[in-house]
Amino acid sequence: MIDYRRLRVALLGAGAVGSQVAALLLKHGDELADRAGAGLELAGIAVRDVDAPRATDLPRELFTTDAETLIVGSDIVIELMGGIEPARSYLLLALRSGADVVTANKALLATHGPELFDAADQVGAQVYYEAAAAGAIPIIRPLRDSLAGDRVNRIMGIVNGTTNYILDRMDTEGADFGDVLAQAQALGYAEADPTADVDGYDAAQKAAILASLAFHTTVPLEAVYREGIRDVDAGIIESARRAGYVVKLLAVCERMNGATGESISVRVYPALIDRGHPLASVHGANNAVFVEAEAAGSLMFYGAGAGGVQTASAVLGDLVSAARRHVAGGVGVGESTYANLPVVEIGRVTTRYQITLEVDDQTGVLATIAGILSEGNVSIATVEQTPTMPPIADASTSPAAGQGTGRARLVIGTHKAVERDLSETVERLAASDVVERVVSVLRVEAD
Ligand code: NAP
Repeated sequence: MIDYRRLRVALLGAGAVGSQVAALLLKHGDELADRAGAGLELAGIAVRDVDAPRATDLPRELFTTDAETLIVGSDIVIELMGGIEPARSYLLLALRSGADVVTANKALLATHGPELFDAADQVGAQVYYEAAAAGAIPIIRPLRDSLAGDRVNRIMGIVNGTTNYILDRMDTEGADFGDVLAQAQALGYAEADPTADVDGYDAAQKAAILASLAFHTTVPLEAVYREGIRDVDAGIIESARRAGYVVKLLAVCERMNGATGESISVRVYPALIDRGHPLASVHGANNAVFVEAEAAGSLMFYGAGAGGVQTASAVLGDLVSAARRHVAGGVGVGESTYANLPVVEIGRVTTRYQITLEVDDQTGVLATIAGILSEGNVSIATVEQTPTMPPIADASTSPAAGQGTGRARLVIGTHKAVERDLSETVERLAASDVVERVVSVLRVEAD
């Protein structure tokens, strides 16, 4: 057996992910040492309650509530506590003590990433975070290393498993949002407070991380436009289906070219995807990240976006990388933010739309609507009309049976339009006499 240099590894947190990381590190320590070229000694596990039950069987003597002492004596610190504080302070302490850090904490990276990366640069250490976006799926390394010689133009990610599970069941079973959410909560797929998932906050954090890497630009979380899926009802899913689309909560990170040069857009919202697109086949709680690069073309990364043991795989990969760096010596590779591209507001984004309207079913309605769209610089690609309510055959309330006062649902597909033009046009449609109700407006992102 090779007598490797031993590295002390501190683990902060032993919950869903941390307990699996500890168990796998203890189980496969010798193999990981051969891969890393260094012995990986689990020096301790900091938690809030040393006596709390754990998902895996771990030696009681490893547990401590004194995180700071554990951190200061370690070569590599793995943070799996979650939240902003004390995770942020502990990681800054670790970096200032000369340790490399591994974290899965997307909330912390999306809000305090630059502070952590600067602290790492100052001491020549490195922050590893493969598990922070899309769990077990390798996407950070591909963006940072494999595609370092290419130009990423666009990323479309299904990066939140809970919302994909809900939308997938609504699509396959025709179920209602509220019913599926309640079942997802009962099964443990969704939190008791589902806000972070269903309102798109979790996906927005991941979008900020992915866009920062892909476009060599620091993307603050506040610059990410965000809409959740609460307004997606069974009718929207059904009309998407009839038009050949599926609804997915998408994180879109896009390079844009304009008169004033390059910029980027980072946005999260429910969007329509053609059923033939690879992202449409991402079912259940799975995640996928679809990357379009100038030379590489289209690439898709698919798999488990969460789960304790699955996420532990990504964390342990980072641990081996950090250990190899310690053995090789030299400074860590910092974050690349040289491009510093401006992030445009949502109003300047150009995409295609599907507008669903409930209208009076009478002569001239289509012409009126086409006129409003044309005035707003929104060009029609497709129109589908279905009656939703028959005309009332009562002469006192209807001029002539069969001519007017019935209702129809109009589903209008547009060519590419600018978001600001589109939203102003939708306001004018809503105010028009012939439109009873704007049922939905969805972006079409992939076909
Ligand atoms: P979790 O189950 O809630 O576990 C958190 C752990 O941190 C617990 O062991 C807890 O100790 C410990 N902890 C919390 N606050 C602490 C404090 N102030 N001092 C010391 N220990 C503290 O969390 P998780 O699901 O494993 O998630 C960990 C991180 O991974 C998060 O950043 C999360 O976003 C990320 N992540 C999770 C998943 C997933 O599938 N779960 C997937 C991708 C990324 P006690 O046990 O004593 O309470």
